[in-house]
Amino acid sequence: MLFGTRRHRRRRELLDAGFTDAWRDLCDARLDWWRELSDDELQRLEAVALGLVAEADWEPANGFTITEEMQVLIAAQAALLTVNLPYEDPYRDVHAIIVHPTTAIMHGEHSQVDGVYSDDPTPILGQAEMHGPVLVAWDEVEDDVAHHGDGRNVVYHEFAHKLDMLDGVTDGTPPMAAELAGRWVPVCTEVYEAVVEGRGGEVLDDYAGVNPAEFFAVATEAFFDDGIGLQAEHPDLYGCFRDFYGQDPAGWYEG
Ligand SMILES: [Zn+2]
Repeated sequence: MLFGTRRHRRRRELLDAGFTDAWRDLCDARLDWWRELSDDELQRLEAVALGLVAEADWEPANGFTITEEMQVLIAAQAALLTVNLPYEDPYRDVHAIIVHPTTAIMHGEHSQVDGVYSDDPTPILGQAEMHGPVLVAWDEVEDDVAHHGDGRNVVYHEFAHKLDMLDGVTDGTPPMAAELAGRWVPVCTEVYEAVVEGRGGEVLDDYAGVNPAEFFAVATEAFFDDGIGLQAEHPDLYGCFRDFYGQDPAGWYEG
């Protein structure tokens, strides 16, 4: 009861304080795309990120301590995906965010990919479950923040899964307008098949060939973290993602 009361008070304090100047300074210093967003986009980003920081249960792995800085950097990157999406409360199904200090090793029967079960110990950088928590390894998040442009980002990956799951199906096609879906499915299918056949190019990680859901998550990483590379290798795919997310990361950093 005491715990619950304390948590409630903390949540109230966070919501009352809003996205603070200290958080803005942190994001500006660590996230190199921060200054590429318009004021409207930042406003939306801050609202979504504040919601995650204040409303989600942040669960540290045993013996680990989650700092406010970690929360803000994870939440801001997650919120980047949503700034121009037409969704009300895009992360309404993210109730808990688990942070491990380093890459977690899963033992026993487990599934990293829907429907694919394994008994082998498997290292995981992150995980997202339908109606379940998002898990990320903090050292991986820090590495991604430090190396923008390599096309890899565990936060984009796991939160892309959560967007994909909004319609109740993890199939690589999140909710979108019919006009866009008409282009999306054939374009994604063509590139997905190329990845499966080993001719997917350099920018998309091979993991994109596991299934269409992983394809969407991996392509989202590349779109936001190496937009120029994705546009050069897969212009049609880049165009679909640009129209879906309503953002144009290949045009960031000009000048
Ligand atoms: Zn995944």
